[in-house]
Amino acid sequence: MSNQYKEGFDILKNYLKEKYEVKTILLNNVDDAWYPELKNIFINKNYAWRERLIALLHESGHVQMDLDSFSFYKMKISHVDFDYASDYIKSKDQFVYLLNEELAAWNLGKKLADSLSIAIDEKRLQKCITNCIMSYVKFGLKNIYKNTIDVDSILIK
Ligand SMILES: [Zn+2]
Repeated sequence: MSNQYKEGFDILKNYLKEKYEVKTILLNNVDDAWYPELKNIFINKNYAWRERLIALLHESGHVQMDLDSFSFYKMKISHVDFDYASDYIKSKDQFVYLLNEELAAWNLGKKLADSLSIAIDEKRLQKCITNCIMSYVKFGLKNIYKNTIDVDSILIK
């Protein structure tokens, strides 16, 4: 029996290869990630095709933002850069930049999958988006506010 999520994965993988010359590599025990300098996407092979497809959908959003000039101007909201390699958020500006970047990647990835008529498990996708964004929220608040996470101390002007 064929697996519709594997078929979707291959369609998206081939699209990224043809349009952006980006290579998708499946590996065990890696973090799903996009490496712009190498033009490589790493996808964790430990999960099922349903999850691999959702991970590739997300990374395809990062690819579009980094390599597609139209998406770039549409989605970037500031010039404050977050260095994904540093693994540490240094400021509130970086935190907001990162959240926008992550949400935009989901947004663009979903639109691309829709345009290629790739079927996604919508419930699973929602769960992945929520987990991804909430973990960045937690990570950001911890980095910025250390152990004293007091929501009232967050200034909103
Ligand atoms: Zn991301």
